[in-house]
Amino acid sequence: MDIFEKLQILGASAKYDAACTSSGVNASPSGADAIGSKVSCGICHSFAADGRCISLLKVLMTNICVYDCKYCVNRKSNEKAKRAVFTPEELADLTIQFYRRNYIEGLFLSSGIIKNPDYTCELMIRVLLILRYERRFNGYIHAKAIPGADAKLITQIGMLADRMSVNIEMPSQNSLRLLAPDKSKNSIFKPMGLISENIEHNSKELALYKKAPKFAPAGQSTQMIIGASPETDNHILKLTENLYKKYGLKRVFFSAYIPVSDDSLLPAQDSKPQLLREHRLYQADWLMRCYHFQANEILDDNVPNFNPFIDPKCNWALNHSGFFPLEANKASYEDLLRAPGIGPKSARKIIAARRFHSLDFNDLKKLGVVLKRAKYFLLCNGKKADGLKISGSSVLEDLMSKQELNAYSGHLQPEFGNFRELFENKKSALLPLRT
Ligand code: SF4
Repeated sequence: MDIFEKLQILGASAKYDAACTSSGVNASPSGADAIGSKVSCGICHSFAADGRCISLLKVLMTNICVYDCKYCVNRKSNEKAKRAVFTPEELADLTIQFYRRNYIEGLFLSSGIIKNPDYTCELMIRVLLILRYERRFNGYIHAKAIPGADAKLITQIGMLADRMSVNIEMPSQNSLRLLAPDKSKNSIFKPMGLISENIEHNSKELALYKKAPKFAPAGQSTQMIIGASPETDNHILKLTENLYKKYGLKRVFFSAYIPVSDDSLLPAQDSKPQLLREHRLYQADWLMRCYHFQANEILDDNVPNFNPFIDPKCNWALNHSGFFPLEANKASYEDLLRAPGIGPKSARKIIAARRFHSLDFNDLKKLGVVLKRAKYFLLCNGKKADGLKISGSSVLEDLMSKQELNAYSGHLQPEFGNFRELFENKKSALLPLRT
């Protein structure tokens, strides 16, 4: 098998890992003179620690796997899968060739488990050693820790890679037992804990000795598959919050399950990936990481799933009408962040600008506030926005995206009919949820 065929197989096998932002799309060229390619395998995009978007070669070392995770296209029992394995030299060479041609800026390396976790890790380490020491590659490398591998091997990967990740895969131990019988909670959380301890230890070393070797300087992340198992959004969000707190993860990625198996424990082959649910989880994750929300403010046991028609921040605001309106010239940074249409950047600008003069709605607009949304939740010097009218339908039109509004129209309007009452009388009532 030639190296290009291996790349096609192992690039395509890696596309189910969502720990990168994009993995390309399938698209045929629009004409013989067209330039540019959107290949579905091989190149993905991620964000470096400084916020730069970087393109990565995203491949598996091998898609041969001795494990049999039911949700995975690479599972041992999938006889239809064409298998391939790179040699460390081939993969290192490919990375350098792609880098030299300016296709990529780094490597995202994962793997199926060939023979056993330790052997797989050793192959991956060999790739990284060739890249870092023989080919002097200084670019970004994201490497997966293989569950069940020896702690020394995982530590060695961390000394060579910029970011590490251990995929948690299933949101509960029970689902893991049913759908990934070869993995255990311990085999996932142990390396995650080890990486977290190493990162902490390394940051202390670096504070003392600037030139100390770095361990996974871009931190660690994980991925969870959504919709293959029955856990609620509330359960997933709480787990996400705990992962951030306990292991100091940089990111938790959510990946809507794409049916690849007709196992009776999984959604039917013709079911659609739960993309809206994945999107809501990312929005809620963003609220926790950047807007100081706690998981239990977004969902709870009484409302365990996201409202499909409105984003979690607007949903929170509509259910906490007593918290609003906020006086833009006095509200704290944390309170401003709670208003729809205000983000961390505009909240900081408001705090800075109001030191010099009191702000009106025009000033807020100039500072980047999305007034279309925010006007319902703010006052400036005790006054509402000029001409503000509150009617259920106009408020919803402003708070919902076009897609949300289209999905909502004609379905559930009566349930938002009491919006005016909700807002003006400062009643708090959870908006009904339909899934
Ligand atoms: S360990 Fe499980 S999830 Fe990973 S490649 Fe093998 S079968 Fe797929």
